[in-house]
Amino acid sequence: MPKIIDIDEDLLHCLYYDLGISVNQIANIYNTTHPTIVNKMNKKGWKRRTISDALKGDKNPMFGKKGKLSPNFGKHFSEEIRKKFSDIKKGTQTNENNCNWKGNKVGYAALHIWIRKNKPKPEVCEECKQKKRLTISFNNNLKKYTRNINDYRWLCYKCHNIYDLNKRRKI
Ligand SMILES: [Zn+2]
Repeated sequence: MPKIIDIDEDLLHCLYYDLGISVNQIANIYNTTHPTIVNKMNKKGWKRRTISDALKGDKNPMFGKKGKLSPNFGKHFSEEIRKKFSDIKKGTQTNENNCNWKGNKVGYAALHIWIRKNKPKPEVCEECKQKKRLTISFNNNLKKYTRNINDYRWLCYKCHNIYDLNKRRKI
C-alpha cells in the first residue's frame, strides 16, 4: 500500500467546497499535513473559506449547490481512503442508521461515497430526463440518512431546487 496518496483535484474540490470539510479534516483523511493541502489549493488558485464563511457552512451544509462534481467521483477513492472515512465516522457515531449527518460532515462525505458507489451517476436527470449536471437528492423528508439506496435520486439542479422547495413548503 503506497504511503503517499495522490490527491485527486475533483475530490478535493468536492470535499472542501461541496461538503464543507475543513483543510485539517481533509489532511487527516489523506494522511498528510495541513500545508500539503493548502499548497495544492493555492497552486490551483482556489480561494479558501474565511472564518465567517466556515461558520456559515456549518449551519448550512450547502450540499451540491456549487463546485465541480466529476462523473467519476466515486471511482477516485482508494480502499484506504474509504476505510479512513468509515473509521472517522465510526469514532463519532455509534448507530449508523440513527445519526444526524448535519452535525457530521465527514459522515456526510462517507454517505456520498456510499451513494456514488451504490448508485452511479446516470446520464440524465431522474425527474426531467434531461442531460444536465446532476446532484444527489433525498427521495423523501429524511431527517436522518438511511442506507436504503432508493432513498436517493440523481437530479439536475433545477429539479433538485424545485423538489427541495416543495419539501420545505410541506413541513
Ligand atoms: Zn431535472
